[in-house]
Amino acid sequence: MSETPRWSRVLLKLSGEAFAGGGEFGFDPTTIKTIARELAAVHNAGVEIAIVVGGGNIMRGATAAEAGMERVAADSIGMLATVQNALALQDALEKMDVDTRVQTAIAMSTLAEPFIRRRAMRHLEKRRVVILAAGTGNPYFSTDTAAVLRALEIKAGAVLKATNVDGVYDKDPNRYPDAKRFSSLSYDYCLENKLGVMDLTAFALCEENGLPIVVFSLAGEGISIAWCLARRSHCRRTRLRGKRERKMAIPELLKEAEEKMKRALEASRTSSHRFGRAARTPGWWSI
Ligand code: UDP
Repeated sequence: MSETPRWSRVLLKLSGEAFAGGGEFGFDPTTIKTIARELAAVHNAGVEIAIVVGGGNIMRGATAAEAGMERVAADSIGMLATVQNALALQDALEKMDVDTRVQTAIAMSTLAEPFIRRRAMRHLEKRRVVILAAGTGNPYFSTDTAAVLRALEIKAGAVLKATNVDGVYDKDPNRYPDAKRFSSLSYDYCLENKLGVMDLTAFALCEENGLPIVVFSLAGEGISIAWCLARRSHCRRTRLRGKRERKMAIPELLKEAEEKMKRALEASRTSSHRFGRAARTPGWWSI
């Protein structure tokens, strides 16, 4: 990658489906290796990379809840699924001689560090790729929301969302050959036209904080993470942005976020009650 990267620090959101290759479930080692190779190229170009991994290739809480499982249990399994993907990606990156650290939002100290913002930023400064797993650590949220939250926390320049299409289209490009790809979009347009780029909570956070989202495809020759970090002209993707100072005027966004927060708080209160003192005892990690 010979060009100057657009951002010196980015947050990449890798959905679970990226780990499954062409399939819907499980891991595809070849695909994971390819992703790791591209990430290594970006890393070697000097970009600091934090990655939030999804878990949809193993478990989606909402789907399991629809099938009858208790939502909090299903979401917990979903969050653990993201840890599996994180460890698979760590393994592939380390094989490319990239230093990595996995941090999780749910403590599991024999496998990974807990997420500590300042520690994560320190790792990035020390040229380590930081893989963030277990989403936000709360049920009812998604890894999209975790990605935006962490991007803001670690002061990333943008959220890069890898999907199986190379940007945002006015209609499904797999079904309509005449679908048009947007090179740049406002948050408002996406919301008004219900373009499901990310979930509403993630979107609201991005909009409120003026954080750009870049949607691009992991698949296809020449359309790589590396290109998307390089100059605008070389990148097939859609960039979403809004004005930093713009006030959010979409009540349903606020309502949804508030609802989620309430349910997540309630769930964490129940689990801390269940596990008693142990759940509230601070771990041994310090900065
Ligand atoms: N999840 C959660 N809280 C979070 C992030 C994720 O409960 O903060 C659970 C939720 O059940 C979700 C699953 O983990 O369905 C996997 O994450 P996601 O669906 O966002 O993965 P992706 O679609 O990106 O593969």
